[in-house]
Amino acid sequence: MKISERLARIKPSATLAVNAKAQELRASGREIISLAVGQPDFGTPQHVCDAAKAAMDEGFTRYTPVPGIPELRDAVAGYYAKFYGAQACGDNAIISNGGKQVLYNLLMALVNPGDEVLIPAPYWVSYPAMVQLAEGVSVFVPTTADEDYLVTVDGLEAARTDKTRVLILNSPSNPTGCCYTQAQLEEIAAWARQHGIFIISDEVYDRLVYAPFTPASLAKTWEAYPETIAIVGALSKSFCMTGWRVGYALAHEDLVKAMSKIQGQSTSNINSITQKAALAGLSGSWDIVDEMKTAFVRRRDLAYETITGWGATCPKPDGAFYLFPVLEQFYTDDAPDSAAMCTKLLEQAGVALVPGSAFGDDKCIRFSYAVDDDTLTEALTKVGKVLTGK
Ligand code: PLP
Repeated sequence: MKISERLARIKPSATLAVNAKAQELRASGREIISLAVGQPDFGTPQHVCDAAKAAMDEGFTRYTPVPGIPELRDAVAGYYAKFYGAQACGDNAIISNGGKQVLYNLLMALVNPGDEVLIPAPYWVSYPAMVQLAEGVSVFVPTTADEDYLVTVDGLEAARTDKTRVLILNSPSNPTGCCYTQAQLEEIAAWARQHGIFIISDEVYDRLVYAPFTPASLAKTWEAYPETIAIVGALSKSFCMTGWRVGYALAHEDLVKAMSKIQGQSTSNINSITQKAALAGLSGSWDIVDEMKTAFVRRRDLAYETITGWGATCPKPDGAFYLFPVLEQFYTDDAPDSAAMCTKLLEQAGVALVPGSAFGDDKCIRFSYAVDDDTLTEALTKVGKVLTGK
C-alpha cells in the first residue's frame, strides 16, 4: 500500500499509543490505572444533554451552514464579551470539530510552505504534526521548569527569523498546567505585532484556572488588533464535552471565511445536534465549572505535594489538570528516557502516564489528575514506590 510521503513523516499520537498499551495489559487481566487521561472525569451537564435530545426530537438533524448555526456563532461572540469584555459578532466565530479542527483549519489557512511557526516547548502533541501537514516548519522555543515553562520575549526573539509567520501560544498549558498572566500575554502580543507574526492563542482550558490566578486571554487584544490574533476555544475540557466535538475560533471575518472554505471541502458543519447542545452550554448555567474547579484544586494539591515529595522539580500549575515534573533523576539503564520509564511504570506500577518526549521534553513525564482522589492517591503511591523504592 502506497501512503503519501506527507503522512509518512507524521508520528502517531503518543497519548493514543500509551492508552493502547494500557488496554492490552488490561485485556490480559492486569489492573491498570490511567493518569494519561486528557478529559475531565465529570459528566456533560444535564441541560446540555437535554438540549441534544430536544434537537433530535425536533428533527434538527440536517446539514447546517458550514461555520455553524448563526445563534451558536453569536453565542461564541457573547462568550468572549461576557468573560473577557471583547466585542465581536457571529461573523467572527466558526464552529469546528473540537479545538483540534480549529487549530488545523487555522494552520492550513495561515501557513505557506516553508513558513516558520514558533512553538514554545513543552507543547501540546498535535502542534508539530499539524504544522507539518500545512507544510510549515516548526521552530521550538525551549522553556524550563524553573521559569514555569513560560516563554519570554527574549526567548522568542532569539528564535525569530525573516521566515517566522506564526506563534502558537497555549495557556493554560497541556502538558504543564502553567498559565501566562494578562500582562505576559500582552507583552508577547505587542512583540509579535511589531514583527508581523500572527498569534494562534490556544485557550481551550480557559475556564479551568484556579484562584488566586485570574483567567487571562488575548480576546480583548484581538478586539483591538483583529488581523493579528486568533483565539481557539472549545467546550471539550471546560464543559466536559470531549466526545461531542465542539470547538470554536474567534478571528477576523476574512480568516473565518478562509477556515470555512477548508471546512466546507473537508468536513462541512459539525454535528447539528451537538450545535444545539453547545448553544445550551454557552448560554446556560456554568455551575459545573465551579464544581470541577473545587475538585481539581484539591487533586492538584494532593498530586503536587506527593510528586515534589519525591524530590522532583515541578512548577505548581494554575490551570488545566496536568502536572509535568522533571523525573530524569530517576531514569535508569533499563529505563533511560521518558518513553522507557513510562513503559516501566506501566508494567511495574500498573499506572499509565504520558512520556515527556511526546511534548518535546524528555526529562519529564505528564501526570493527569482528572481521576477521583482515591484513584489518584493509589496511582501516585504505586509510582512513588517504583521511582524511589519507598
Ligand atoms: N489544545 C490543547 C492544548 C489540548 O490539550 C487539546 C486536547 O487535548 C486540544 C487543543 C483539542 O481539544 P478538542 O478535544 O476540543 O479537539
